[in-house]
Amino acid sequence: MQTDVEIAQSARLRPIGEIAEGLGLGPEDCEPYGHDKAKLSLDVLDRLADRPDGHLILCTAINPTAAGEGKTTTNVGLSMALNRLGHRAITTLREPSLGPVFGMKGGAAGGGFAQVVPMEDINLHFTGDFHAITSAHNLLAALLDNSVHQGNPLGINPKRVSWKRVLDMNDRSLRNIVVGLGKVGDGVVRESGFEITVASEIMAALCLATGVEDLKERLGRMVVAQTYDKQPVTAADLDAAGAMALLMKDAVKPNLVQTLENTPAIIHGGPFANIAHGNNSVLATRTALKLADYVVTEAGFGADLGAEKFFDIVVPAGGLTPSAVVLVATVRALKLNGGMDKKSLATEDLEALGRGVVNLEQHLENLQKFGVPVVVALNRFPTDTDAELDLVRERCAQLGAPMALSDVFARGGEGGEELARAVVELCGQESSFAPLYDAADDLLTKIGTVAREIYRADGVDLAPAARTQLADLEAQGHGHLPVCMAKTQYSFSDDPTLLGAPRGFRITVRELVVNAGAGFVVALTGDILRMPGLPRVPAAVGMDIAEDGTITGLS
Ligand code: ADP
Ligand code: MG
Repeated sequence: MQTDVEIAQSARLRPIGEIAEGLGLGPEDCEPYGHDKAKLSLDVLDRLADRPDGHLILCTAINPTAAGEGKTTTNVGLSMALNRLGHRAITTLREPSLGPVFGMKGGAAGGGFAQVVPMEDINLHFTGDFHAITSAHNLLAALLDNSVHQGNPLGINPKRVSWKRVLDMNDRSLRNIVVGLGKVGDGVVRESGFEITVASEIMAALCLATGVEDLKERLGRMVVAQTYDKQPVTAADLDAAGAMALLMKDAVKPNLVQTLENTPAIIHGGPFANIAHGNNSVLATRTALKLADYVVTEAGFGADLGAEKFFDIVVPAGGLTPSAVVLVATVRALKLNGGMDKKSLATEDLEALGRGVVNLEQHLENLQKFGVPVVVALNRFPTDTDAELDLVRERCAQLGAPMALSDVFARGGEGGEELARAVVELCGQESSFAPLYDAADDLLTKIGTVAREIYRADGVDLAPAARTQLADLEAQGHGHLPVCMAKTQYSFSDDPTLLGAPRGFRITVRELVVNAGAGFVVALTGDILRMPGLPRVPAAVGMDIAEDGTITGLS
C-alpha cells in the first residue's frame, strides 16, 4: 500500500493561479507563494459582499480514538465528491501544528486518496502564518517584560503575569522556565513558561476576527497580567496591538491550495481545540462561502466539543448560517466506546460495536438540538467487516438519520459520492439553526446548559478558585461572552475513561479564564496541557529526506 506522502508526491498539481481562476479570481486577488500555494486578498470579501453565500457544511465526529476518526479525510473527500457531481465545492481546514506532526498524531492534511497538497508544505512551514503568530505573541511578552524592567510604569505584578511565550513544538521541558536571570540589566526575574503556538490566544483571535480592524481590537483587549492592585493589564495598555497586527499582515490572509483531485482548499488558522475552539478562520470560511456553492469545514475533536463550540462561538462570531452536519463515525472508534481494548480494534466484535453505538446515538441527538440536518458518514477502514457496517447502518436507520458509507481514503472523491448526494439533499431541506444558549445568559447558566444538554451531566461543580473567578468575571463585565469548554476529547464527561454514553456524573470546573481578545471565557474541567510533550517514540523518529528530495515518514 502506498503511504500518504507517496500518494501526495505522485499527485499532479495544477498551478495555483489556475485553481484561483477556476474560482473566478484574478491575479489581483491571489498572491502566489511558490507554485502551489497562494494567499487570498481580503478585498475579495468586500468585492463579493452582495453575492449570496454557498451552503456551509460542518464536518464533526463521535468521540475519537487517539488517532482521530477521519474528519479531515472525510472533509477533503466530500469536497472532491461534490465537485465530481458537478457542484462547486471548497474544503476549508485548519493549518497543522508541528507539535502533533512530530509527536503522536501525525499530520493533518487528510489521508490516503483524500488529501490536500502539497501535504509536506502544509504540514511543515506552509506560508509562515504560525511563525507570524509566534512572533506577535513573543513580541507582546518582550514588551511586557521590558515595561517591568524599565521602571514598571503600569505597576504590573511580576507574580501575576499570565502571558507566557510560545513555540510551535511539543516540548515539555519548556513548560516551566525562569526568565530574567543574570545581572541588573538582564530583566526582572520571574517564573514563566512556554505554550504551543496553536494555544496562543492570538491564534483564537485571528480565527474569529472578521477583518484587520477587528483583529487589532481583539489583540488590544487581550489580558496579559494584573497590576499590584489586581487590575487587568491588556496588550493595548502596553501599546502592542499595532506592531502585533503588523507582524500578522500576511498571516491574516487565507491560504489557497488544492486537493489531490485539484479542487480548491482554503487552509487558514489552527486553534488548539483543547482550550480554544477548533476551527479554521472565519475569514477563510466567509471567503469560501462567496466562492463556492458548498463549503465543508471541520471542528476539532468530537461533536461534544467541536460542534458545540462551532455553533455557540464561531457561527455567531462569524455571522455564519450552517446548512448541514456530517457526523463522522468509524467502526473502530465505536468498538472502543463499547469497551474494546484499543489494541484489538482491527478484529470483528459485534457486541462491543453494539454497546459503543450509544456514543453515536447521543451525538446525533445533540446535533439535532441545534436545528441543522445531520448525515452520518461511516469512514471505512480496511478492517471493517460487512456485518459491522450493517449493524451501524441499522442503528442509524432506527434513529431516523441517513447514513452514507465514505470510502474516500481508499478511492478519493469517487468513494464519497454517496455522502455527497446525501449532503446535497440535506442542504435542500429547511434548516432552523439556533445556538444552544442565549448570549444574555450568565456564565454559569451557559456552562450548565452545555453540561446537561450535550454531556448529559447531572450538574456542574465549581472548584473554590473557579467560584472566585466566576464572580470576578461577571463583575468585570465578561458575563455576556460565550463559554469555551476545555474538556477531555475521549468522553462526554470530564473523565477520559468513561466511554460510550455515560450517565450519573457531574462536571467539575476547576478554573475560568477570560480570553477577552478571542471573545470567550475558557472553562477548564481537567488538567489540560497548553504545552504538550512528545511520546516515547515520536513520529519525528521515522522521518527522513533523501538527497533527491524524497520524503519518508510524514503522514
Ligand atoms: P481527524 O481529522 O478526525 O483527526 P484524520 O482525517 O486526520 O482525522 O485521520 C486520522 C488518521 O487516520 C490519519 O492518519 C488518516 O490518514 C487515517 N485515516 C483516516 N481515514 C482512514 C481510513 N478510512 N482508512 C485508513 N486510515 C484512515
Ligand atoms: Mg482533522
